[in-house]
Amino acid sequence: MLVNADFHIHSCFSMASSKDMLIKNIAPKSSQKGLHLLGTGDGVHPGWLDIVEESTDYLGDGIYHANGCDFVLTCEVEGKNRIHHLIIIPDMDTARELSDKLPSKNKAFNGRPKTRYGGAELLDLVHEYDCLIGPAHAFTPWTGMYKSYDSIYDCYQNKPDFVELGLSADTLMADRVSELKDFTFLTNSDAHSPWPHRLGREFNQIELEDISYTSIKKAIKNRDVKANYGLVPNLGKYHMTACTKCHKLIDSLLAKDNKMKCRCGGTIKKGVDFRISEIADFSKPKHPDFRPDYVHLMPLAEIIASVHDKGVTTKTVQGIWQKLIDNFKTEIDVLINVPLEDINKIDSNVSGAIESFRNGTVTIVPGGGGRYGQILFENKVEKPKPVTLDNF
Ligand SMILES: [Zn+2]
Ligand SMILES: [Zn+2]
Repeated sequence: MLVNADFHIHSCFSMASSKDMLIKNIAPKSSQKGLHLLGTGDGVHPGWLDIVEESTDYLGDGIYHANGCDFVLTCEVEGKNRIHHLIIIPDMDTARELSDKLPSKNKAFNGRPKTRYGGAELLDLVHEYDCLIGPAHAFTPWTGMYKSYDSIYDCYQNKPDFVELGLSADTLMADRVSELKDFTFLTNSDAHSPWPHRLGREFNQIELEDISYTSIKKAIKNRDVKANYGLVPNLGKYHMTACTKCHKLIDSLLAKDNKMKCRCGGTIKKGVDFRISEIADFSKPKHPDFRPDYVHLMPLAEIIASVHDKGVTTKTVQGIWQKLIDNFKTEIDVLINVPLEDINKIDSNVSGAIESFRNGTVTIVPGGGGRYGQILFENKVEKPKPVTLDNF
């Protein structure tokens, strides 16, 4: 069976996460997004594990069910060098045991605990418990594995089970790195709120024998992801090299020459685009035979917000989003499958914008330095170019 799965979210217990990140809110929203299977996130946090147990029915073999949505236990851990790792956990008993074993001062307070363990120690520990592990948002400049290492094997010593690409990268970018040719790529939302432009903004279409931890493990090991769905990487907040204070996009070589200091006094962060070019072996992607399609997405609510010039969480935007979902079932269908004339009957501006999205004629102001890229229709604003020597 083909299952849409998003393995990386955060609960209300993670830093900077919404207090609404509770199973009762997440489950119905994820069905509307067209997701069948969700990682719980924060799966070594004792309080969150209690909530998962109380708010779901256990179906066996690591699967917890609520409101039309199945959950598998997952968590993100911050290890040595501030590197983030994503872990998929077989069941509740294992999660609680792992939580006790993980050397961490703050796991009772923070859903994403910090530990002194490096990638290799974490990999050994979680493999003892039959978990899966891989780098989370592998190329990002604050907490991605490749910010500290030129090779995934320097971090983990052994082969981890997958690589999470992160919002600012896609398969076209990652398959320029030859050592990744054997890896399953996962695309997950890393959502900190249940808003529809966050939850499921990236997900995996995965072939499973049934919905169980055993099948999930087998599918990831056998590279049975059939499609990766994810943001156009320009929209990711670390796609381009940019200042974290004034958010100006800055030429990466110039930034290096200036020791990553911006004129405004802010720190410049290296973009995922440039980091991949540094570690890439190929100038063009070389996809292994098993590599599935990467389907580019834009959050529907952000498209609506842009054409109506309103905030994405406003009543107008959320109202139109809900109306589209009520009529056409899931966001993915509205973005990709529903005929434009049907969308036109609900909102002609939105159908025009979805047509541009499908044709690839949307203008995007690229993200960088911690600010998301921006979707523009009708060329409202001129696309800014990276700052170069001439105008630094
Ligand atoms: Zn992270
Ligand atoms: Zn600046």
